[in-house]
Amino acid sequence: MSDTPRQKPQFCAWCGSPLEYEEHHHEPHFETLAEQARARGEEPPPLPQNVEELMRGDSYIAACPGCRVLSHVISHHART
Ligand SMILES: [Zn+2]
Repeated sequence: MSDTPRQKPQFCAWCGSPLEYEEHHHEPHFETLAEQARARGEEPPPLPQNVEELMRGDSYIAACPGCRVLSHVISHHART
């Protein structure tokens, strides 16, 4: 089923230290650009595959004090 709860990551992806992740919200930047292109009568460029992938998942971000790496984790929803 697809109603599994969202799993917020809790550890640094690099060193495994416990981390407090924050939800990272996507700016609908590409959609805005596409709308502006249409308004000018232009054909909006297709979204790159990885951007579509990004916008489908929930993303979380945290700065690790241990290894000083900014962890950016994409948590994908369960298969539908
Ligand atoms: Zn770390």
